[in-house]
Amino acid sequence: MARKFFVGGNWKCNGTAEEVKKIVNTLNEAQVPSQDVVEVVVSPPYVFLPLVKSTLRSDFFVAAQNCWVKKGGAYTGEVSAEMLVNLDIPWVILGHSERRAILNESNEFVGDKVAYALAQGLKVIACVGETLEEREAGSTMDVVAAQTKAIADRVTNWSNVVIAYEPVWAIGTGKVASPAQAQEVHDELRKWLAKNVSADVAATTRIIYGGSVNGGNCKELGGQADVDGFLVGGASLKPEFIDIIKAAEVKKSA
Ligand code: PEP
Repeated sequence: MARKFFVGGNWKCNGTAEEVKKIVNTLNEAQVPSQDVVEVVVSPPYVFLPLVKSTLRSDFFVAAQNCWVKKGGAYTGEVSAEMLVNLDIPWVILGHSERRAILNESNEFVGDKVAYALAQGLKVIACVGETLEEREAGSTMDVVAAQTKAIADRVTNWSNVVIAYEPVWAIGTGKVASPAQAQEVHDELRKWLAKNVSADVAATTRIIYGGSVNGGNCKELGGQADVDGFLVGGASLKPEFIDIIKAAEVKKSA
């Protein structure tokens, strides 16, 4: 089964209602490849999820940027997976490096979140990736494997999981991984899945790249055999996100 190209836009903690409406308008007017070529998911801050969901074109989907690790209740400030399901939000991003680093989310905690969100019926973009120090120490694959293992230990059905490989040193820095660097980790990660989960999960799970993807570098990155799409931060707030969605075409001609 071919892996459908996936392009996610992580808006992070940005935007006013007016700005969000503008981005949605731009997306709604865009000519992009059809849904059988590319799956597009945008992730506004929580407070804008209902607005975006109700105004966004029906062939694009929405994701939350996080959710709580278990059933809701006395967890001030948190949003539960059940609430997202209740609002018909199909996707959630979990384990983003900003949450791992700034909010101290451990591999195990992220694994628990992924398992809980999947069990509630959400689809998950699970983020993994090494810091510059870890890369320079030669431990990229150990770090990425440990992060993925914490998920694999808790998840049996991978059909609603997309893995986002996001080297921390490339996020928001303008310093993109080279196509060869991205392909190398994606290939290793797929081999890790084959060995530690199953050949089928390795063959069918989408592994997308994130870290300073833009309109200029997306085609070459997307042309790599094991790069199944992107998670885009900064550029997802700009019209060039449309060009990044269109990079899905590189797989058709590959
Ligand atoms: C991200 O936040 O997931 C990301 C990849 O950001 P940027 O594209 O800005 O590097």
